[in-house]
Parts: sequence; C-alpha cells; structure tokens
Amino acid sequence: QGQPQTNAAAAAPGWAQSAQRGGVVEIHAVSKRYGSNPVLHQVSLTIPAGSVTVILGPSGSGKSTLLRSINHLERVDDGFITIDGQLLGYRQSGNKLYELRDHEILAQRADVGMVFQNFNLFPHLSVLENLIEAPLAVRGLSRAEAEALGLELLARVGLADKADAYPRQLSGGQQQRVAIARALALKPKVLLFDEPTSALDPELVGEVLDVIKELARSGTTLIVVTHEIGFAREVADRVVFMEQGRIVEAGSPEQIFNAPAQQRTAAFLGKVL
Ligand code: ADP
Ligand code: MG
Repeated sequence: QGQPQTNAAAAAPGWAQSAQRGGVVEIHAVSKRYGSNPVLHQVSLTIPAGSVTVILGPSGSGKSTLLRSINHLERVDDGFITIDGQLLGYRQSGNKLYELRDHEILAQRADVGMVFQNFNLFPHLSVLENLIEAPLAVRGLSRAEAEALGLELLARVGLADKADAYPRQLSGGQQQRVAIARALALKPKVLLFDEPTSALDPELVGEVLDVIKELARSGTTLIVVTHEIGFAREVADRVVFMEQGRIVEAGSPEQIFNAPAQQRTAAFLGKVL
C-alpha cells in the first residue's frame, strides 16, 4: 500500500520468485447459464491460500466456465466470487455495491493468471516480448524492469536461452512454459490452468507438469483442470469432481481416488484411470 508497483519491482531480483501474498478464492453459490442452457448450478468452493486444487470432470461439466468466472472472462448470473475477501466485479461502498468499470476489472483480473490449453502466445512477438507486454501495460513497469523480470521468469521455467525466439520456433511444451512465465509476470495471487497439457504430445507433458509442480511448492494458489491423475495424486491438496455444472464431491486425492463417496465419481475415474 502506498508504494507504487514500480518500486516493488525495482527491488527485484527475487520479485518473480517471491511467494505470492494471499490468494484465498471463495466461490459462493455461483450459477451461470448460456442463454437458456444452465452450465453452473449453485457451485460453492473455498480454495485456501497457497493450496493446489485439481478439478476433474467430463467434457461439458462446466470446468472451463468456472475458471473463466474466477478470471472475469465470464460474468456469473447468480452468487459471487471473492479473492482475499475482495468481491470480483464490484466495489463496496457502505452497504452499496457498484459495478467496476472496465479498467478496474482489468486491474482486478491482473491478480488472477490463466494458462490455456492452446498456449495463446502472441505469434508475432518474441518470447521476451510476450512476457513483458502485460507488465508494461498493466503493472506500469519500465521496459528495463519488465525485461529483467521476463528473463528471470524464463530462467525459472528453464528457457533462459529462448528470449529472442518466436513461438513457432518452440515445441508445444516450451510454448506452454512461456505461457506459464507470462502468467507469472503479473505476479498473480492465483493461477488457473485449463487443461494445460491436453494439447501436447505425450513426451512433452512432463516438462510442463514439472513447472506446475515447482509453482505448487513455491506456495502460489493453483487451480488446475486436468485429466492427469498421477499429477493430481502427487500435487493436489484437494480434488474436486464436477459433473453437469455441479460439484459432485471434493476431498483429498487419497479419498477421491481410493474411496470416492459418489458412484458418479467412481464411474468417471473408471474411464480415465
Ligand atoms: P468443460 O470445460 O467442463 O468441458 P465448459 O465450461 O466448457 O465445460 O462448458 C460447459 C457447458 O457450457 C457446455 O455445455 C458448453 O457447450 C457450454 N458453453 C461453454 N461456453 C459457452 C459459450 N461461450 N456459449 C454457449 N455455451 C457455452
Ligand atoms: Mg474445458
């Protein structure tokens, strides 16, 4: 508070490595429909700061919609979401709520990083340019600060030598590691992963999961939609199974994978395990 972001960044190196503050996500009875098609039904979930939550479920069960709602890419129809007690999309004044303006929503969204299945890098920008674009625009860093941060993040994902490469020159696994570094560049409180390895050739999955595991150890709050059960067993604090827009059950990996309480969970796991 009080200190402009630029000064905090100037105190880097270490900015990219430092533990993220906070990151408690609370989802309260969130419902969402597309036209007349209900997609989320009163979904409630609390995600503690620094924890790793894996969301599993069949295609069409609302996993992406839930992640997109946490990142303001979707507006929920009912219920609400808070991050560290801050209501997404609204500002409270007295006992009144005001909708945030677009620039305020952008600022709030910067606290939530998102990594997509298909990397979504800017093809016409070099790796380093991909990394510095948002810190320059959103966090107000100088170019020198943003480049120093970008290089530090590239080293963290094992791609220090790729700063000047273009996305098309990289493997899918390398592109996804750049996408993770780019998400980290805004120093988010929460990182969302939507099937981050689903588009990768099998031999490239491990290098991306290893980067996510390293983030998990560093204490960033992670929410990961994935079908990688081995990863979930090893890394997740909590596994959530969704079906048809509802949370069917949630528990520790041991409980969900070894002794699911719900028949629907067992049936799904029987197909993916
Ligand atoms: P999942 O990620 O679990 O596969 P999604 O959240 O992508 O599920 O989709 C849940 C449901 O919402 C599906 O029936 C899907 O067809 C529908 N849906 C998703 N996005 C849109 C959209 N932008 N417009 C209309 N329907 C959508
Ligand atoms: Mg999806």
